[in-house]
Amino acid sequence: MLMSNTPSLENFWMPFTANRQFKAAPRLLAGAKGMYYTDVDGGQVLDGTAGLWCVNAGHGREKIADSVSRQLMTMDYAPTFQMGHPYVFDFAEKLAAIAPGGKAAGLTKVFFTGSGSESVDTALKIAIAYQRAIGQGTRTRVIGRERGYHGVGFGGISVGGLVNNRRVFPTLPGVDHMRHTHDPARNAFVKNGLPEHGADLADDLERLVALHGAETIAAVIVEPVAGSTGVLLPPKGYLERLRAISKKHGILLIFDEVITGFGRLGTPFAVDYFGVVPDLVTTAKGLTNGVVPMGAVFASEAVHDALMVGPESQIELFHGYTYSGHPVACAAGLATLEIYREEGLLTRAAELADHWQEAMHSLNGLPNVIDIRTIGLVAGIELAPRADAAGARGYDVFVDCFNKGLLVRVTGDTIALSPPLIVEKEQIDTMASMLGDAIKRAA
Ligand code: PMP
Repeated sequence: MLMSNTPSLENFWMPFTANRQFKAAPRLLAGAKGMYYTDVDGGQVLDGTAGLWCVNAGHGREKIADSVSRQLMTMDYAPTFQMGHPYVFDFAEKLAAIAPGGKAAGLTKVFFTGSGSESVDTALKIAIAYQRAIGQGTRTRVIGRERGYHGVGFGGISVGGLVNNRRVFPTLPGVDHMRHTHDPARNAFVKNGLPEHGADLADDLERLVALHGAETIAAVIVEPVAGSTGVLLPPKGYLERLRAISKKHGILLIFDEVITGFGRLGTPFAVDYFGVVPDLVTTAKGLTNGVVPMGAVFASEAVHDALMVGPESQIELFHGYTYSGHPVACAAGLATLEIYREEGLLTRAAELADHWQEAMHSLNGLPNVIDIRTIGLVAGIELAPRADAAGARGYDVFVDCFNKGLLVRVTGDTIALSPPLIVEKEQIDTMASMLGDAIKRAA
């Protein structure tokens, strides 16, 4: 098999990327090991983003590669409709053992999907089906939040709140949005904890109940820490309040943990970090270290049992994917969980969080830096938009960083970092100094 270092750029329709802009200056990665990518010219690129927030155990893990290749040769594919294979049951059991909130929280029923977007659509459908199963069939509305990112399925863009992702598409009927919690005027440069102001924004759910009637609302979905929109932390007390309001009105609470799951905040899940237990949790990415596509929804026993236990006439859940519980993905996931456990990676971000926070806040005072937000091993560095072109300054910093050997993410004018959880302190310092230099050059 021949692979060219100078591939034709004509046929690949890039996701979320302007092909034209890319062709003018292609960035091509050819290898990956540990904390580094290698580009096609042999240059090293320090991975400040764990790929796309997913390679939590770092690149090129032999244990995962071995597990995947063994599985490929043992059984490459098997359906999980009306049958199964041992690996999918084993993986679900091992996931349940570290389920969000611990066993006591009861989020121990695992539905496998192929991606974060599929996990979101699955969770929304489970929520609506659950309401129907308990005799609440009028509850079909779902509530999301401005600036939320929940993938690109029709369910996900409907509850999502990023206008570019929604603009030209029809969305689900009966969806409403709460306000986002970003308030740099009151919460800028927060350190050592969550933003003080904004818990009352959770009362938006109460207002939507007053507007539509609780009997029409099935579920509310939020990212506990909004990632793709620029790393927005929940204000102190916000998630607790959302939990209380949703419970009071019989509305299921869904946490989208596609980014926060699997150690990103220094706890296995954001549920553990914040101590707030929802009814459904969506995951993907770190589930398999990003190595094989897979997602999973953790559902509470109550939700599961209402649908799946009881008289045979009951509505179960008519939903599933060809690749639900794919054996090769399970093999990747099982090996990934072993690495997480052996190396303590699900809590490592907690050990590094102070160092990470100090390194990122050292950028405070650089030109155009208007906010810095960190939690666990995530950071959002927000730059003032250029007067003539919002997003241009952030994009310039991203390109400059890449050219100098650091991979960051850019969303609007916010630079986001979320390195693999194996990152060392010196590499954190390198990231901060390389990013700082790029920010200075962009000024
Ligand atoms: N939900 C959240 C919170 C995400 O961050 C993402 C991806 N960044 C998704 C859903 C969608 O995941 P995928 O790209 O695997 O479909």
